[in-house]
Amino acid sequence: MLKEDVAEVLITEKELQARIAELGKAISANYEGKDPLLVCVLRGAVVFLSDLIRQITIPHEIDFMAVSSYGGTRTESSGIVRILMDLTTNIQGREVLIVEDIVDTGLTLAYIIENLKTRRPASLRTCALLNKQERRQVDVPLDYVGFVIPNKFVIGYGLDYDEKYRNLPFVGVLKPEVYIE
Ligand code: 5GP
Repeated sequence: MLKEDVAEVLITEKELQARIAELGKAISANYEGKDPLLVCVLRGAVVFLSDLIRQITIPHEIDFMAVSSYGGTRTESSGIVRILMDLTTNIQGREVLIVEDIVDTGLTLAYIIENLKTRRPASLRTCALLNKQERRQVDVPLDYVGFVIPNKFVIGYGLDYDEKYRNLPFVGVLKPEVYIE
């Protein structure tokens, strides 16, 4: 069973939902009257996005993009990013909020920011559920952050290991024996 592979729960379902309610409130206040576009970075952020938008009380739109960093291992990103699936929305002149699951080295988000900037949105801000601050290699502006977490590989609440564990309602750490590398 998936749950039995978990060594430690870092953030409980209750803590996640309480913090996401606060983020939704802040986003609703800051974007009042602006019809923002929330850009969800697939696949990891999809669970976060779906809970977050239900805590946002103002009109807004959502769109998705998928990126992959290749050349890395299952638990380390290489920093080389490419777009696997692009937005369908034209973001020129739009108020854009990037919704990410986790910012680790910062390389993925830095790439996405640079890429979206060239499309001339009216504003471009970021919202990350998890921030692994101590691992940062490039400076990325984070406007909304759910939780700062220690340097541990986490799974659950959208985050995977080898495409599994995304369905766990909490953020946790796997038992070392689960890893195959
Ligand atoms: P970065 O480019 O900031 O190093 O990494 C960003 C991406 O790496 C995240 O969007 C996520 O897909 C993946 N990632 C980084 N740390 C973790 C982690 O602890 N657990 C999981 N499942 N993915 C992670």
